Amino acid sequence: MKRAILIHPDPRLKKLCDPVADIGDDLRKLADDMLETMYDAPGIGLAAPQVGVLERLIVLDCVKGETEAPRPLVMFNPRVIASSDETNVYEEGCLSIPDQYADVERPREVEVEWLDRNGALQTETFGGLWATCVQHEIDHLDGKLFIDYLKPLKRQLITRKMVKLKKERARI
Ligand code: ZN
Repeated sequence: MKRAILIHPDPRLKKLCDPVADIGDDLRKLADDMLETMYDAPGIGLAAPQVGVLERLIVLDCVKGETEAPRPLVMFNPRVIASSDETNVYEEGCLSIPDQYADVERPREVEVEWLDRNGALQTETFGGLWATCVQHEIDHLDGKLFIDYLKPLKRQLITRKMVKLKKERARI
């Protein structure tokens, strides 16, 4: 089942999310719903607060093109345990900030630890787009958006556009 994606500004997108204690069927269903919502958008990552659930859960799939098999990843309580000194700049976007893009600099490689959908501990080192995406999604769990890395003026400009967009959508 697809879920509605919250649009910035929304207080739920600024909250520190709670760790997941018990991975049961409800949370697995939420993860499936989030994957469906993400693929439909389409996007390459989605965090639980973006669908209004303030728990530490993200989903992502950064496989590009149609020739490679999809790789849906579900991460409960993900955390970065090591980051490279080397950085990378990617033009980022966000499903909660539609049609707005900006360059963000982040570590080029990160080692991430998380619990999978069966509650098993997983560790993997990500690079390239995967590294950017997983860091962007984990930021969401701490109430942080990619526009928080931008200069205040640029951030305010984007926020004003989003306020306008939300008003327009509310009128329909
Ligand atoms: Zn985002």
